[in-house]
Amino acid sequence: GEDTSSLSDPHFHVLMMFTKIDKSRSLQEKFRVAMLSMVKHGDFLEEEVLVLHFVSDQASQELGQRMLQEVLLDATFQYEVVFHDVVDLTHKLFPIVEAMQKHFSAGSGAYYSDAIFFLSVAMHHIMPQSLSRIVQVDLDLKYRTNIRDLFKQFDHFPPGAVLGITREMQPVYRYAQFPHVNHLTSLVLMSGEPPPDGLPGFNSGVMLLDLKAMRASALYNQLPGARERGQAGGPVPSSTPWACGWNRQLCTWWREHGYGDVFQLYYRCDGPVYIFHGNCNTGHPG
Ligand code: UDP
Ligand code: MN
Repeated sequence: GEDTSSLSDPHFHVLMMFTKIDKSRSLQEKFRVAMLSMVKHGDFLEEEVLVLHFVSDQASQELGQRMLQEVLLDATFQYEVVFHDVVDLTHKLFPIVEAMQKHFSAGSGAYYSDAIFFLSVAMHHIMPQSLSRIVQVDLDLKYRTNIRDLFKQFDHFPPGAVLGITREMQPVYRYAQFPHVNHLTSLVLMSGEPPPDGLPGFNSGVMLLDLKAMRASALYNQLPGARERGQAGGPVPSSTPWACGWNRQLCTWWREHGYGDVFQLYYRCDGPVYIFHGNCNTGHPG
């Protein structure tokens, strides 16, 4: 159902990981493509504000600020930019996610520097209480539609749902079922069997986080650390997949590496593409 409090809040929060960007021309170019396409299709009401959050180090922030001046030039909507220092966030995160890290890592270690990979699962502790929803997106995206429409997906959440995430479009979980390979998606891993009979894993390139629901959910807050779970890789309660076109992944690496036979079962995504995700350095069409 519609959440009336969020209807009156004119802020639309989007968060991107933005570290070591100064060291990678490739990431800079991806960022440019993502932002220009977001700006091109972005359309908001007069009183609304798109708030762009970046989790960043000092050098990336300086570069990001310069690049944003250029890529946001043609924005027809109000926006705010907030940089979060990755060191500060890691410092806040580590005590919260340490037990979870241990639970999901192959060894017994919980590395301080890895805590940031768990940002999304603990985002409700990190962001101010006033922030009720946030969308986390990768930099290697190309928007084909208004990012404001992405927020409408929150309204399709079943009661109690905390997380919106799209399915993985490669048979990757047949191989990468080890949490240290992909900390975050292992939390929502259910099975590596191909659709439609089985659920693949999830891809974290576009995620809807209902922070208010995350704070309120007793079940969600019983994830490892709060209470040990018997079943490794148990699902996050009430995670909800939505149309695959909101995170149309383009990586085909596994087609050429032993999974050609089942690849199409995973890769197919019918219906309109709203966001292309050029994962594993795959270029965008067009
Ligand atoms: N990222 C970053 N710095 C890096 C590498 C990655 O900030 O050096 C962030 C960036 O937001 C990126 C995300 O982490 O989009 C995930 O990485 P990537 O998209 O390259 O992974 P893939 O989608 O190919 O698995
Ligand atoms: Mn990506």
